[in-house]
Amino acid sequence: MITVDKLDIKSMNIPEIERLLSDLGQPAFRAKQVFDWLQSKCVRSFDEMTNLPASLRAKLNDLCYIADCDIECRFESKLDETVKYLFRLYDGQFIESVLMKYHHGYSICISTQVGCRMGCRFCASTMDGLSRSLTASEMLSQIMAAQRDRGIRISNIVLMGMGEPMDNFDNVMRFLELVSDDNGLNIGMRHISLSTCGHVDGIYRLLERNLQLTLSISLHAPNDAIRSTMMPINNRWSVDELMAACRDYTEQTHRRISFEYAMIKGVNDSDECARELAERLHGMLCHVNLIPANEVRGREYVRSDRVYQFCELLCKFGINATVRRTLGADISASCGQLRQRRENDNKTVTLKNG
Ligand code: SAH
Repeated sequence: MITVDKLDIKSMNIPEIERLLSDLGQPAFRAKQVFDWLQSKCVRSFDEMTNLPASLRAKLNDLCYIADCDIECRFESKLDETVKYLFRLYDGQFIESVLMKYHHGYSICISTQVGCRMGCRFCASTMDGLSRSLTASEMLSQIMAAQRDRGIRISNIVLMGMGEPMDNFDNVMRFLELVSDDNGLNIGMRHISLSTCGHVDGIYRLLERNLQLTLSISLHAPNDAIRSTMMPINNRWSVDELMAACRDYTEQTHRRISFEYAMIKGVNDSDECARELAERLHGMLCHVNLIPANEVRGREYVRSDRVYQFCELLCKFGINATVRRTLGADISASCGQLRQRRENDNKTVTLKNG
């Protein structure tokens, strides 16, 4: 059991570990060794750090904990090679991650928070609000646990699981620093996507970092009238404000933005919506990802049957748009659905630890 007064060493970068070790009278080179065990070899205990003196391992064990997540259950799709994990954290909270196989390698969709407080009305993650934010080490642990479970290397990451990354900004930035470190998992920024529901302050803060990652915006509607009925964040920042932030972002980073658009019947799928969306995005360095909305228990929204027509129309208006391939459709592989089931209906979860 982890007590809160211990230090979260897996969220530390090398200079921080150096400072910790120097307080313990250790030479600087040890920091890189510890970092390598934690971030590259992905060990789960100090005992495994065999090139450290036993006394130091014992001292570290007294002072620090190594964050981890346990597989509560795992669902494997029969349609494709998608695997969905429900992970249990040290305090008994649950989070979800989805591992997907593409021709270019493995990609994982990870959570950044337990629950979410953004309140999007079509989303399962937000139904019980936010429990807490994840530490950088808990974000890393999702990747490491999936790699260990499958005996694979993951090459791409999307921050599109439960939670709003911009609502946990500092921990997400630390995660990005650690995961891309070439002494660690060494997953480059160009292989990472971060998705936000439209947190404009967060977009500007991210812009200042000038990272090479892909920014995804969950847009889902072309105007305030529709978007405000779907996403409370739109009452804080309007579509105009969001679009201005996106234009600033692409102009300064020269990175293409990906707009997510979950298609919901009778809500945002009309020809008029496509036309309005095309006008909004005209001239912007972007791509539109159309997602056939997943129907979520307890939510009234229904999947649109006009996804391909909508896509064609956008393309006709000169907007780069594609329909997202649905992976893991048979295993509730979208955002928050599994945790919700775990909490509402224990019987649907049958696989325990493999
Ligand atoms: N909070 C961030 C990231 C997590 S949500 C964000 O909002 O972008 C991941 C993506 O799944 C978002 O685009 C979200 O809008 C979408 N999503 C949530 N529920 C969905 C549903 N029922 N059908 C389709 N997409 C959904």
